[in-house]
This record gives sequence, structure tokens and C-alpha cells, in this order.
Amino acid sequence: MDETPKNIVILTGAGISAESGIDTFRDAGGLWEQHRVEDVATPEGFAANPDLVQRFYDARRAAVQTVEPNGAHEALARLDRAWKGELLIVTQNVDDLHERAGAKRVLHMHGELLSALCARCETRHRWSAPLFDRPPCHGCGEQALRPDVVWFGEMPYAMDRIYAALRAADLFASIGTSGAVYPAAGFVRDARELGARTIELNLERSEGSHWFDEARHGPAGQLVPHWVDELLAGADQA
Ligand code: NAD
Repeated sequence: MDETPKNIVILTGAGISAESGIDTFRDAGGLWEQHRVEDVATPEGFAANPDLVQRFYDARRAAVQTVEPNGAHEALARLDRAWKGELLIVTQNVDDLHERAGAKRVLHMHGELLSALCARCETRHRWSAPLFDRPPCHGCGEQALRPDVVWFGEMPYAMDRIYAALRAADLFASIGTSGAVYPAAGFVRDARELGARTIELNLERSEGSHWFDEARHGPAGQLVPHWVDELLAGADQA
């Protein structure tokens, strides 16, 4: 490492949760393979067949409650606890494994499975049960709850906060993401232009690998704890 970083932004994707047993987007045979993205992850798909979409997310919400954080989530939580500078874990994941590992500085740019959003009054509720049976919103009483996840064609959450963190960052890391879904896939270019060093930790080269100053390839459960050790050792010496 050339210089000890102070402010870090970490982008995580489905790959960081793969070793916990949650399918990534493209895993053969996974939940996503059985459905077209347009049918289950777009506002148009929801309008056309709400039952199918609610059942799809009900299954994922149930599944996420049966898995545990892995060594990569735990290492990032350790970094979050120890890091004295700014740190933001921007996750594209809708699972809650970063939080369950103990990380606090987490932003869910694509929403959360364990949250329901009322399409009528726009309030959010922590939600662990199914939505298929159209339970009433605890706020307005309407049966208008949908998964609080950002579908393709919708605006990701908290982009202002993410860009404020990217502007302040001197290190940007991308972990377990294919670099295929925008705007998250564009963060590496923006972070670079804004002056951050960039590193990719992924099972294989991602679509945007060439944008990174450094790339390490392998399972997140092995790469991330080692990388966190390096960062914390560098900070101790600084
Ligand atoms: P993706 O499936 O497009 O890419 C996952 C990447 O992770 C791939 O490049 C793959 O090589 C890598 N990977 C797989 N196993 C890994 C491991 N053990 N260690 C390190 N890397 C590994 O996922 P994405 O880039 O996050 O984009 C897909 C979209 O789907 C996102 O918007 C996300 O919201 C959503 N999604 C979320 C979850 C979740 O919440 N856990 C799961 C699937 C999809």
C-alpha cells in the first residue's frame, strides 16, 4: 500500500453472501434462474403479476432468515469497529448479513428484504413475514405493502450520501460484485476520478476489473479477512 488511507468506501454485492448460502444473481439453478428478471424485479413485472413477485420475495425473505454471516461479513464488521476514519459499506445486497455480523456503517442502496414499503403512504416497516397474503400497512391500514427493494428501472436509495462518501474517500473497495448493474458499477470510475485508490476483491475478474488499481481474485471468505488485517496493520503503523 502506497499511503495509509483515512476514508474508505466499500461496495459489496451478492458475492460476499455466496459463502453464506445465498444465491448470487447469476448462479445456475438459483432462484433467479427460475424467473426472468423482468418478471420479478421490475415495477412492470409487479403490476402484471403481484402474486408471483410477492411469492418470489417471500421465499427470499424466508431464506435469508435461515443463513448466517460468513468470515467476509465478520471481517468488515471488525474493520467498522476499529476504523477511526470515515467508513461506509454500501451494499447492493438486500440481505441483513452485514448488520448481523455487527457492522453499523451500512447503507442498503437496493433496499432490504426484511423491510416492507407501503405503496400508499410510503412508510417502511421492519418485516420478516410473508407479504403474499396482503397484510395491512401498520401506518395507513391499506393492503398496499410491497418489498422494500429497488427494482430495475427504480432509483437506488441514498445516492447523495453515497457520492458524498465517494468524494471524501481515499480508498474504494469493491467486493463480490459483477460490475454489471449500474449505477453501482460506475462507482469505481467515479471514485478514481475523485482521487481514491481502488481495489477489487472478487471470485474472478469482473466486467469492470480494468478500472481498478489492484485486483485480488478468490473467495471473499478468504480474501476479505486478510485485506482487513492489512488495513488495520497499516493504520497501527501510521
Ligand atoms: P452478481 O450476481 O451480478 O455478481 C456476483 C459476483 O460475485 C460475481 O462477479 C461472482 O464472480 C462473485 N462471487 C461469487 N461468489 C463469490 C465469493 N464466494 N467470493 C467473492 N466473489 C464471489 O451480483 P451483484 O453484482 O451484487 O448484482 C446483482 C444484483 O442482484 C444486485 O443489485 C443485488 O441487489 C441483487 N442480489 C442480491 C443478493 C443478496 O442480497 N445477497 C443476492 C442476489 C442478487
